[in-house]
Amino acid sequence: MYDVIVVGASIAGSTAATLLGQAGLRVALVEKHHRIDTFKVLCTHHVMACATPTIRRLGLDRTIEAAGGIRNGLDCYTPWGWVASPPGSPHGYSIRRAKLDPMVRELAAGTSGVDLMLGHRVIGLLDNGGVRVRGEDGSERSVHGRLVVGADGVNSVVAQLAGAEQRVAPNERFIYFAEFTGVRQTSGSKTQIWLHEPGIAYAMPNDDGITVLASMPVKAALPAYRSDRESALLADLRRLPDGPVFDAADRNSPIVGATDCPLITRSSVPRADVALIGDAAMTSDPSQGVGCGWAFQTAEWLADAVAPALLADRPLEPALRQYVRRRKALTGHQSTIEDQAKAGPPTPVDRLLLGAAVRDERTAAHMLAFVNRTIGLRQLLAPAAIARAAWVMLRRNWLVVGEVRDQSR
Ligand SMILES: Cc1cc2nc3c(=O)[nH]c(=O)nc-3n(C[C@H](O)[C@H](O)[C@H](O)COP(=O)(O)OP(=O)(O)OC[C@H]3O[C@@H](n4cnc5c(N)ncnc54)[C@H](O)[C@@H]3O)c2cc1C
Repeated sequence: MYDVIVVGASIAGSTAATLLGQAGLRVALVEKHHRIDTFKVLCTHHVMACATPTIRRLGLDRTIEAAGGIRNGLDCYTPWGWVASPPGSPHGYSIRRAKLDPMVRELAAGTSGVDLMLGHRVIGLLDNGGVRVRGEDGSERSVHGRLVVGADGVNSVVAQLAGAEQRVAPNERFIYFAEFTGVRQTSGSKTQIWLHEPGIAYAMPNDDGITVLASMPVKAALPAYRSDRESALLADLRRLPDGPVFDAADRNSPIVGATDCPLITRSSVPRADVALIGDAAMTSDPSQGVGCGWAFQTAEWLADAVAPALLADRPLEPALRQYVRRRKALTGHQSTIEDQAKAGPPTPVDRLLLGAAVRDERTAAHMLAFVNRTIGLRQLLAPAAIARAAWVMLRRNWLVVGEVRDQSR
């Protein structure tokens, strides 16, 4: 009998299991893969600054840096010029999932009270609390616990079995990327994002001198990628203004990607003994690089909400409601990202803020704090921030009847 059964031992599940174990609870961490060093291939490894406090609390910042992970920053190319993160801006981490995933899993496995059950796939939920698992030899058994945490990713079986409601928003872009060594960038070791409407592209320096180069074009470009993904990716990257220099670079990985990346939000679970974290709770657009950060954060929020109730043997409902309320901090981000995934032209407010951020360090820091998800939508659109952006633009007569005239080129 466990206090908590966490399903999925990737970022969200391993973080939750570690924090719950550290709180003094008995945790089963169930993972379908049998190897402790398994990792998620479909990821471009940029962990936003919103996750840094959780990473520090876990003590992972030192482990990540010792393994060559880098403190990342963000420079963003817009139709009006570059928005550069000012020196001293909050940082996240960039480290390949081949290193990060085993790191978080080993941390959980080494935490007192946590049993890591590798090679066990959850196939059912028990009515009296817990899960039914199938081992790799086909044998099945029940694992009992008071709370089941679905940390099993975008296609969460736990969410399906628990009957979680979900909202699905389409994404008009798709993604292909690969890892290279020997890439040169104008931004040094900062991640670069090109918002070259309607597509998006990235250059993301990582550990061991690896740079991930990625493109997220709109779906009209799918046939070109289907016929020759290497030529299509390299052509997209060569078109970027101030783009990465990769003529002498070596490609270290296959070109991988996803042709459909819907945004999925699962807000309510109709069972008082089931909660969702990470991608199982909210899967966003890969172009925004928020999923790993939110996996760390939602795991921490859930662990902090439920641990006291579990330790004191109190009912879980209030703790689960508290967790769901805390998660609402992400709702404004997800709805903005859903709008951006439609690949339409920027809104007047986007134009105002981006245009001003190109010219004003304070507005740049404010915009990039939102992109790093360290401030919410309400703070982004605070009257003082909008007034400053308007003042920056009006001062130079850049604001012309709702249009931001492009004078930066
Ligand atoms: C192309 C692409 C690029 C991305 N790039 C970035 C990026 O740069 N930065 C960023 O922050 N995010 C990025 N993301 C998103 C990020 O990868 C995810 O948000 C993140 O991995 C979510 O972590 P998680 O722990 O919730 O789930 P996952 O990492 O998906 O882990 C789920 C775990 O559950 C296990 N599991 C599944 N089913 C079962 C079962 N039935 N029983 C037992 N175990 C099970 C799986 O084996 C896995 O270990 C990207 C996503 C895509 C698709």
